[in-house]
Amino acid sequence: MTGKLLCARFAAPCGYIRQDLGKLDGVAWLRVVERTKRGLETSAHTLQYCFPEMFKGLRTLARATGRETFSLENVAEYWRERHVDRPGDCRVQVVRVVANDHPVLAEVSTPDRGFVVIKYYPDVEVRVGDLVRIHQRCIIEKVGDES
Ligand SMILES: [Zn+2]
Repeated sequence: MTGKLLCARFAAPCGYIRQDLGKLDGVAWLRVVERTKRGLETSAHTLQYCFPEMFKGLRTLARATGRETFSLENVAEYWRERHVDRPGDCRVQVVRVVANDHPVLAEVSTPDRGFVVIKYYPDVEVRVGDLVRIHQRCIIEKVGDES
C-alpha cells in the first residue's frame, strides 16, 4: 500500500457529495474511483485537484511532523486518527460486521445502532465479526490488515 493509494481509498467515497455541491469534476473523480478499485495509484496532482480540503489537511499535518504530504505514515494518521470527529457519515469509524449475506451490502453495528455499509473495494474480504474502518458508509479496509 502506498500513501497515494490509501489516500484515494479513503477519499473516493466522498466524491458524490462533493459533486452534488458542485465542488468536484465528476469525470476526474470517476477516474479516481476506477483506478483505486483496481489498486492503481492516483497522482498527487489529481488528488489535490479533486479533494483540495483534504490536501490542505494532509499538508498541514506533514509540515507539523516533518513528513512528506503523501507519505503512507502521513496519510494513515490523517485518515485513521484525525478524520474521526467529523459530523455524520463523514467521520471515519471502526465498526463490526454483524451480517454479511448480500454480495454488496454488509450490516454493521456500533454500540448504539446498526446500519448498512457498502463493500466499496473488491479486494476487501469481509466476514461476520470483522472490524472494518468505514468512511461515508463505505468499507475502506479491515482493521488489522493495515499496511
Ligand atoms: Zn469524511
